[in-house]
Amino acid sequence: MFQRMGHVPFFMARRNIAELILVWQHTGACHPFIFYKAHVMRPARLAVLLSLAGAAALATAQNAPAPASAAPGAAAERPASEFPYTPGLDVNAMDRSADPCVDFYQFACGGWMKNNPIPADQARWSVYGKLAQDNQRYLWGILEDLAKRREGRNASQQKIGDYFGACMDERAIEARGAEPLKPYFEQIAALRSSRDLPRLLARLHLSLADPGLFFGFGSSQDFGDSTRVIAFATAGGLGLPDRDSYLKLDAKSQEIRAKYVAHIANTFKLLGDDASRAQREAARVMEMETQLAKASLSRVDKRDPYKLFHKVDARGLQALTPGFDWHAYLSEIGQGGQTTFNVTEPAFFKALARLWKSNDLDATRTYLRWHVARSMSPALASSFDREHFDFFSKTLRGVQQQQPRWKRCVALVDRQLGEALGQEFVGRAFSPELKAKSLHMTRQVEEAMKKDIDSLDWMSPDTKKRAQEKLAAIVNKIGYPDKWRDYSSYTVKPGDFAGNVLRGHAFEQRRDLAKIGKPLDRSEWGMTPPTVNAYFNPQMNDINFPAGVLQPPLFDPKMDDAPNYGNTGGTIGHELTHAFDDEGRQFDAKGNLKDWWTKKDAKEYEERAQCIVDQYAQYTVVDDIKINSKLTLGEDIADLGGLILGWMAWKEEMASMPQRAQPQGQPRDGLSPEQRFFVGYAQWACESDRPENLRVKAMTDPHSPGRYRVNGLMVNMPQFQQAFQCKPGQPMVKEKRCRVW
Ligand SMILES: [Zn+2]
Repeated sequence: MFQRMGHVPFFMARRNIAELILVWQHTGACHPFIFYKAHVMRPARLAVLLSLAGAAALATAQNAPAPASAAPGAAAERPASEFPYTPGLDVNAMDRSADPCVDFYQFACGGWMKNNPIPADQARWSVYGKLAQDNQRYLWGILEDLAKRREGRNASQQKIGDYFGACMDERAIEARGAEPLKPYFEQIAALRSSRDLPRLLARLHLSLADPGLFFGFGSSQDFGDSTRVIAFATAGGLGLPDRDSYLKLDAKSQEIRAKYVAHIANTFKLLGDDASRAQREAARVMEMETQLAKASLSRVDKRDPYKLFHKVDARGLQALTPGFDWHAYLSEIGQGGQTTFNVTEPAFFKALARLWKSNDLDATRTYLRWHVARSMSPALASSFDREHFDFFSKTLRGVQQQQPRWKRCVALVDRQLGEALGQEFVGRAFSPELKAKSLHMTRQVEEAMKKDIDSLDWMSPDTKKRAQEKLAAIVNKIGYPDKWRDYSSYTVKPGDFAGNVLRGHAFEQRRDLAKIGKPLDRSEWGMTPPTVNAYFNPQMNDINFPAGVLQPPLFDPKMDDAPNYGNTGGTIGHELTHAFDDEGRQFDAKGNLKDWWTKKDAKEYEERAQCIVDQYAQYTVVDDIKINSKLTLGEDIADLGGLILGWMAWKEEMASMPQRAQPQGQPRDGLSPEQRFFVGYAQWACESDRPENLRVKAMTDPHSPGRYRVNGLMVNMPQFQQAFQCKPGQPMVKEKRCRVW
């Protein structure tokens, strides 16, 4: 739902600095470890968030020191002191001239799309994105106050206030130019032998937390034993959003690649290289990245956890990359004693070793300079920031205008100090009553799933028993973590934006690496509290709903039950169903990758999933590009299962609370309770996307476009057809319905 998460690889969520900062755009650089399933695209993190949303990255300053005339209307923008209220079912968002049995999405969202054109600083716009921006605007006020106030702040408030203040100080950032790159460029220039590469790379990884630098390295739960946290070495090394960005042969993809090469050359020119040298360097980088792309798994392959599970010892790791001294690398990052590693893509590491061997050191230095500059551009002077925005946001995603500085700075605070910021948010925006209500609904949805599993006619008692064990073991996390992250070792200085960003990366890298070999912390969250999104993590076997997503219009305590159960009930059901989607079902109650299905039941499941694959493959994303329905399968299964569970939970609530139920047949806003349930559901998904962004999403986003997350479900729900009295033969009635859960 919201902006963009979907299910994203878990780590995306947590690390990714490059992303962080720069983030917004290249989710391609994330590592895929685990299958972190965001409801909307994730923001994954936040960063991701940003990116998904298509937000422009944190671009630079549109307003350099000069007159900040950049964005029209920007002058009028002010922080919000309260949240604007939008009802959970908004009749103004509907288009009543549309026939719900012909195009339900248009009926429920037509008004929203008409009244909410995509803002110039966004790649897409949606109900989730708008709510996320409302949260940002509210946080802006808090941060502005904390940045000005030098007294009476606690330690966390000092950090987020000073971070925000430094980020907003464009004059100081401009004055430093590209100077923050200097220490890194000196180290790269000093690379005299391939023997020095491991230690150099280790230092760059610690400071930049960017898997775009050849590969990624961090911690994650062992697929085979979820109680253990082990080291993961993951594929990376790319600047474009996906491996396919390098491989597709159509004219549009070729044009994007040519513009990417031009962008790399422009960046080298900004660094002082002359034009012809910059061209040669850019071509070289593109060549290297293309080789790495060819050796990378596709996104569909990465959805298969078995393809990412290759445990090796130190000798096995070393054997993959002769010539690259892992012992030196590990010592430099403080992990010299590690003996167990999961190499998610061994073929990638073998290709990397070949690349290092065949290249001269000059090529390696060029590649590293590019990626360090790319990673840090949003934290440098406006010339770098603008160049970065022009390619990654404007060219790649169609964004017309850089986001105002305040938005980018709020997003970065959320990214690097999210749980400190989250405490401020939760204290003001999330009441214990709201938490209790959300938990009540969550338990009802879980109860519905219990009944649903029992009622399946295609599943054997043995498999049902295991499914029930898994369901019973799922942990519900609502609102915010029980234990807040300790940022005391992260030094934030006033007036030092780039330094704060780099120290934040190093803090996060060290925090992540420190988990290796330690007992698993089950209380950890992969999203920050203000995030408008939700996720399921199969290894933790938990569902997570940050405070940011439990607000109107998504969850509206003032509204009747029907739209709330359609919307938030559907979202809770969605996350729960992820535990049993095509990926999630491969993990057991303990979060281990272990097959608990009988052969026959697995076959029955796959047949039902294939029905969904075939259905969504018919839908068009943009131009002649159809949904890659093997990539979106998990989300499509979760959407359908989730809404069925939301429906069951709502019926249960009505049965148990007859005094609160709207009398049958009595319409409100001209809609019956059943119709309100479906319109309430659909209105989380109202959105518009730029065509450029849709092209990127067709490659990278495991979620189907909003129109199909609505209409694709309705055709499979007899309850919908009954609620709107749709007739056989109408577009919202499918002859052969799909159902998995
Ligand atoms: Zn999802």
